[in-house]
Amino acid sequence: MPLPSLKDQFAALIAAPSVSCTQPDLDQSNRAVIDQLASWLGDLGFSCEIQEITPGKFNLLASFGSGPGGLVLAGHSDTVPYDPQLWKTDPLKLSEVGDRWVGLGVCDMKGFFPLIIEAVRPLLDQPFKQPLLILATCDEESSMSGARALAEAGRPLGRAAVIGEPTGLKPIRMHKGVMMERVDILGRSGHSSDPSLGHSAMDAMHEVMGALMDLRKQWQREYNNAQFSVPQPTMNFGCIHGGDNPNRICGQCALEFDLRPLPGMDPQVLRAAIRSKLAPLAEQHQVKIDYAPLFPEVPPFEQRADAELVQLAERLTGHVAEAVAFGTEAPYLQRLGCETLVLGPGDIACAHQPGEYLELSRLEPTVRLLRELIQHYCLDSAIVR
Ligand SMILES: [Zn+2]
Repeated sequence: MPLPSLKDQFAALIAAPSVSCTQPDLDQSNRAVIDQLASWLGDLGFSCEIQEITPGKFNLLASFGSGPGGLVLAGHSDTVPYDPQLWKTDPLKLSEVGDRWVGLGVCDMKGFFPLIIEAVRPLLDQPFKQPLLILATCDEESSMSGARALAEAGRPLGRAAVIGEPTGLKPIRMHKGVMMERVDILGRSGHSSDPSLGHSAMDAMHEVMGALMDLRKQWQREYNNAQFSVPQPTMNFGCIHGGDNPNRICGQCALEFDLRPLPGMDPQVLRAAIRSKLAPLAEQHQVKIDYAPLFPEVPPFEQRADAELVQLAERLTGHVAEAVAFGTEAPYLQRLGCETLVLGPGDIACAHQPGEYLELSRLEPTVRLLRELIQHYCLDSAIVR
């Protein structure tokens, strides 16, 4: 069957809902998107491997050519949830509005895949010296389980990887990590008139917060990276819940906070530092302090400025690689030995928003850029490092 046009491919992927969400009632399978991509890429001669990561959630690894090295063009197949009432157009239908295509996932980031296909199609009759791998992951918007599973499997994917998240076609080689954590304090309640009747979880929490603020100050002194608009690591106390009445000693208190480490800060080391600060407070206040992440962290990411991929992307785009404030799957692909960059056609400002769009003026430059990357890594290059 002949491949649909670029626009029809966009439309087909947008029409296949693939919401991923930590709320189970909103969460959907991404099977339809993966099957659609596998069918198009299979017709083009790619060999397609579909991996089930969790029930109903799939990664696609589609490769053309074989052997070590090569280029990985990667993206996630899922979208965030959406509220159709806030959209002026049907979010699951590709609409052309002015000089934009509008629809859920056009920018973040199902639209990246048709652009890869458009870029590679005219090259497929040439001999590939190194393979091209097109990777579509699941659940990037929720647990990152797709990318995590690949990192855990440890199978090398290629020597360079480009993730087409919305960066306005500017190369991104750094982002902070994202950690969301929770402290639970269990004390003992009792009548407020006699403190000896209980152990106040709230008094203990006061000191826990003081200890965390000390750590925050220390980390902000130790780490600073001027490439980021907020150059220091941050720690935000987002919510606190505890106690029930002024005349009862508070028996239970919980705090949730968000920590954004800079590249070079290891989440495991940060957690160990927090644990060792909190341990003596439990003893001192005779309470139980439980500290745990709310979900596995997104590690911070940095690709060295002198990497071949960074230099090449800077030359091809005319932009110096920068840092962004959002987390991506980049650290997982990097762990598999790929030089990794985030570089895609959309604008992050419209991602996760009603009316998500992609400027039509980005289509052609993206196809050209991807074609040059494929040319460099798969057709010209015979060196395997
Ligand atoms: Zn995304």
